[in-house]
Amino acid sequence: MKRSRSVYLDHAATTPVDKQVFEAMRPYFFEHYGNPSALYGEAQIANGAVNDARRAIAEVLQALPDNMIFTSGGTESNNLAILGVARACAEQEKHIITVATEHHAVLEPVAQLKKEGWKVTILPVDKNGFVKAEDVVKAIRMDTLLISVMYANNEVGTIQPIAEIGRQLLRYRKEKGRSVYPFFHTDACQAAGYLDLNVEKLHVDLMTVNGSKIYGPKGVGLLYARRGVNLQPIVFGGSQERHIRAGTENVPGVVGLAKALELIQRTRESENQRIMKLAEYFWKTVQKKIPGVKLNGPEMGKGRLPNNLNIVFPGIDGEALVIYLSSYGVMCSTGSACTAVAREPSHVLAAIGKNPDEIHSSVRFTLGKSTSKQNIDYTIQSLQKALKLVGKDLN
Ligand SMILES: *Cc1c(COP(=O)(O)O)cnc(C)c1O
Repeated sequence: MKRSRSVYLDHAATTPVDKQVFEAMRPYFFEHYGNPSALYGEAQIANGAVNDARRAIAEVLQALPDNMIFTSGGTESNNLAILGVARACAEQEKHIITVATEHHAVLEPVAQLKKEGWKVTILPVDKNGFVKAEDVVKAIRMDTLLISVMYANNEVGTIQPIAEIGRQLLRYRKEKGRSVYPFFHTDACQAAGYLDLNVEKLHVDLMTVNGSKIYGPKGVGLLYARRGVNLQPIVFGGSQERHIRAGTENVPGVVGLAKALELIQRTRESENQRIMKLAEYFWKTVQKKIPGVKLNGPEMGKGRLPNNLNIVFPGIDGEALVIYLSSYGVMCSTGSACTAVAREPSHVLAAIGKNPDEIHSSVRFTLGKSTSKQNIDYTIQSLQKALKLVGKDLN
């Protein structure tokens, strides 16, 4: 089908690769393709590139280069953080704390530990998706080994108070004489493009970042693990990544991840403002043209990622709306990319108290670098047309 336009508003699902990122990766496909573990010069160039990437990322995170473990993406990093800490530290089942609105890549490994006999606390959130730092600390028991709280939510954009949780956790450890436990992990996949990743300021022990949400390549990720956090591997084989993650390094991927993180963090403040203005304009105009709409999650500018709009169109089938919009070239989604296929009602929207009708009528628009005012205007026109087709003209 030939389309006059295409407007991509699904940046929370994944982003296109930045051209500069691709150019940085290119030599490691064609010229410097050696295995970084080999001894000849060509391979050492690849090895050097992986180490340069480690250093560049360490600078962004204000961490040490050898705190970085490269993985196959956000999912593996989260699994390694949770299962790796659990299996390295505990001779017996212990307790783990997480939050109801986490990504499945956190909730599922936690569910796996529960099956293996671990005690699990899944904290509820308020109507905007926030967890309170006090509530996290109150849930800690003497056998709590790990706390995992996402930095920003992929469906409704809620930014959790990670630094505040970190500060209260430091106080707890001091008071209870537990020098390092419980460890604190954050899934920063959605935050990495928009928020400060300084691990010292956040007081986190472990942090997950991936390439595919920050204009880097898909299938590559990073787990930051502070020195002193022992991890048992979840992938066994060679001795790569300090014996923590076996397998030949994804050299172009790692180079791309580092470049993407550097680029996005360098421009994030001005870009956040630009995107925020566009998102505000989008939301104001939608409210004007389509009465009855509601925003899921926090108000704009109040602890919400600047690029996220998750909107309830009352009485409308969200999935049908997404499909009609796609016929105009507008790409957006219901819930997260992962649940879009499974067609399960969003656990995030349920956790913030939305009823099944509201969940069914919710559509997520996530803006990004390519989004312009013209894109937004076109999207709103398309929305009005699509809503008529979905069967109910709300004008
Ligand atoms: C995308 C995403 C993941 C999964 O990352 P992959 O690289 O696709 O494995 C995990 N957590 C959050 C918050 C995400 O947005």
